[in-house]
Amino acid sequence: MTPIDSATNPHKASAGISLADSADPRRVLADRVEQIYSQMPIGIAGSFVISVVAAIELRQGRFVEIVIFWAGLVVLLTAATLGLYWSYRRSTTKASEAAQWLRWLAISALATGATWGFAAAVFFPSHADEQQVFLAFLLAGVVAGGVPMYAVSWPVYALYAAGIIFPFTYVLATFGNKLFAEIALLIPAFYALNVAIAYRLNQVFDSGYRLRHAYGKLTEDYTALNQRVEQQLDELLQAQREVEASGRKLALFAERSPIAVLQMDHNATILELNPAAENLFGYAAVELVGRNAIRTLFSSANPVLGGAAWQSFIETAKPLSLPPAGCVRRDGIEVSCEFTLTPLVNEDGDLLSVIAQVRDVTQVLEADRLKKEFTSTLSHELRTPLTSIIGSLQLVNSGVMGEMDKDIVELTEVAERNAQRLLDLINDILDIEKIESGKFVLFPEDIELDTLVRESLLLNRSFADRFKVRLEASGGLPGLEVKADRKRLLQVLTNLLSNAAKFSNEGGAVEVFMSVTDAMVRVDIADRGTGIPENFRDRIFGRFAQADSALTRQKGGTGLGLAICKRLIEAMNGRIGFEDREGGGTLFYFEMPVAKAFAQADK
Ligand code: ADP
Repeated sequence: MTPIDSATNPHKASAGISLADSADPRRVLADRVEQIYSQMPIGIAGSFVISVVAAIELRQGRFVEIVIFWAGLVVLLTAATLGLYWSYRRSTTKASEAAQWLRWLAISALATGATWGFAAAVFFPSHADEQQVFLAFLLAGVVAGGVPMYAVSWPVYALYAAGIIFPFTYVLATFGNKLFAEIALLIPAFYALNVAIAYRLNQVFDSGYRLRHAYGKLTEDYTALNQRVEQQLDELLQAQREVEASGRKLALFAERSPIAVLQMDHNATILELNPAAENLFGYAAVELVGRNAIRTLFSSANPVLGGAAWQSFIETAKPLSLPPAGCVRRDGIEVSCEFTLTPLVNEDGDLLSVIAQVRDVTQVLEADRLKKEFTSTLSHELRTPLTSIIGSLQLVNSGVMGEMDKDIVELTEVAERNAQRLLDLINDILDIEKIESGKFVLFPEDIELDTLVRESLLLNRSFADRFKVRLEASGGLPGLEVKADRKRLLQVLTNLLSNAAKFSNEGGAVEVFMSVTDAMVRVDIADRGTGIPENFRDRIFGRFAQADSALTRQKGGTGLGLAICKRLIEAMNGRIGFEDREGGGTLFYFEMPVAKAFAQADK
């Protein structure tokens, strides 16, 4: 009783309910219809056999013709029911049209019931007592036998039983016998009881089918889930293999890397290091692993990664590049190293370890020191005496020392020119060195550009005369001021003018134009000279860049002028460039922001 109970009572097991409710009702109906149809052959055979037995028994009565008619009815109905069964079996729409097949079945059940009802109505009153008992027994049997047959759908059973019961009840009630009349009153009650049982069974079947489908669905879901899990497992394995491969690749990179690499934990304890690190610090890996990197590798005087600095690096967990710091090798030799620290963090931002890439910059720093020494030598040991040599030669060449032999004059002039070139070179080298090392300071002031340009023309006139080139300014901008370092802007103008003069043809002219657009003023220095060769254009602002060194030797120059100009103009928030000039020659230009004073005056 218990299992049926729990299956039939939907309120007993809430888990069962939600599971059963998830079944597809159409599939449940199709299953129930299939169940009834599958029982049909037994039902048809049983009904037919009982009908034959009944016909044989009842034929002894007075109405043989009616018995034959009834038997014919039974045969016809049996054939029709078999036809229905056969069509159902062959049907391809069993599942999708289950409701229609159930309706056909209900008609067939009603017809079967009615055939028995007909037998009851016709044969009961016309037979002797024993046959009446036999018939009543038979009818009770077919009513009861219909319960397991049709209970999967209780309305079908109700129709079937009604077809039998109601004609029989009518016959009993109108027979004229008191006992039969009383039985007639009880039969509808039996009918109701049987239908109730069928209804109950119907529920049992229904929830059974629902459960079956729900479990079927669960199994399908489980299989799909299993497949997904398997697929994900495969992907995971693949990913693991890839991670392992890239891990091996990384390890290989670190091992072969010429840069020292150390892995440390959050306390700066060394976890791992590559051969380059062993070379750099002179320790074997086993000697360093487990030791504190800051205490072991840095010279004690060096505070670069002292307690607080390391702690704040760990807290911020941001990559950090340290300035060169003194480190001590195992053999006691001091080396300068540049540390780049990269924290490795997981997705939650927790620090896993720190990777330090260490570059030995001892030689770089030494080279830098030597360079500084060299520039200082250039500045003091060469420039100072050279300036006095040039001064002396200028005096001699000016004629104040009296008339001199023409050959001597030629020689002293060559000496002065070359000494001047040497001084220019030294000055340019010192300039560029100063700019690039960041030691160079600008003194910006409001300058009237027009005046400055004319001044530069005057200053460069004698230089231009040497190349028989005229310097001409057109379109001035009186009153317009720019904020710039006067001396440096003059240096730029001088360089551009002298270049233009140097690379112009004899008798040519260098023209200077000034124009203003928006907040910028532009100065163009244009010549009709040789032009800039195509393959030199992208190098022209580089250091020691010269298109034709033979020509430059002849005309003078260091290849540093434009490099200095570019850096100076950019430091004064300007822009410098060049373009080909229509009709031949080159046009160099620079643009500078217009000073505030002028902008206000302009308004
Ligand atoms: P340099 O002192 O040699 O003139 P610059 O840096 O001033 O050095 O110029 C670099 C090179 O650019 C020059 O040697 C020359 O080849 C080329 N150059 C510069 N200005 C001009 C110009 N106006 N016309 C043609 N070539 C030029």
